[in-house]
Amino acid sequence: MKTIDKLRDLQNLDLIIHQLHQRLHEIPVFCARLLEDFKRQEEKMAGLEKESRKLQVAQKETELEIAGNEEEIKKLSRKIPEVKTNKEYSALLSEIEGLKKKISEAEDQAIGFMDRVTAIKTSIKEEGKVIAAERKLIEEQTRKLSSEEASLKERLAEEEKKRPVLAEEAISRETLAVYVRILESKGNRKAVVEVVNDSCSGCHFRLPTTTIDQLRKGTELVFCEGCSRILYF
Ligand SMILES: [Zn+2]
Repeated sequence: MKTIDKLRDLQNLDLIIHQLHQRLHEIPVFCARLLEDFKRQEEKMAGLEKESRKLQVAQKETELEIAGNEEEIKKLSRKIPEVKTNKEYSALLSEIEGLKKKISEAEDQAIGFMDRVTAIKTSIKEEGKVIAAERKLIEEQTRKLSSEEASLKERLAEEEKKRPVLAEEAISRETLAVYVRILESKGNRKAVVEVVNDSCSGCHFRLPTTTIDQLRKGTELVFCEGCSRILYF
């Protein structure tokens, strides 16, 4: 088997190993993103609950205010028979009228609070359903991802076992070092590339006839003059 073919086999294996590593790196990131979405929804829910409590307190306070004013009206009404002058009488009545007006305003306010509490409670119920569904989905996805992670790790261990057989045991140290150096310098994880229409498929450099002739002979490794990758037909 020619060195170039051995290098191609090694590159195929390295590509698989690289992809497995990549996916293994993605899984925890994806899991974290799922949890973050879920946390955001829970925060929204907590906000609604807080708002609901605030409104209920305001409603209660308004009701207490109404009760206090009603009590005050009763007290003032009891004084009516004791009143001596017309002036005192009309002052008392106008005080009572003022309190009644306050009560009526507070009652409108209380109704407003009640309506808002009802609306928020509906939102909380809806949001609760969304969160429950989301939680189920996240648990399911997390389970799937962790089982995928386990099988990827298993596969990676298997593939990595093959590497010494295809690398150190098959290819000379010098050639291997060249291959690794090119691979590390190229982001697309390819050190060995095909020649297509007399051009390097790695960088599209049009190869001179001498390079093509050298490749045809097939006796030694031939490098692209554009990108330094190892070439094959
Ligand atoms: Zn090239």
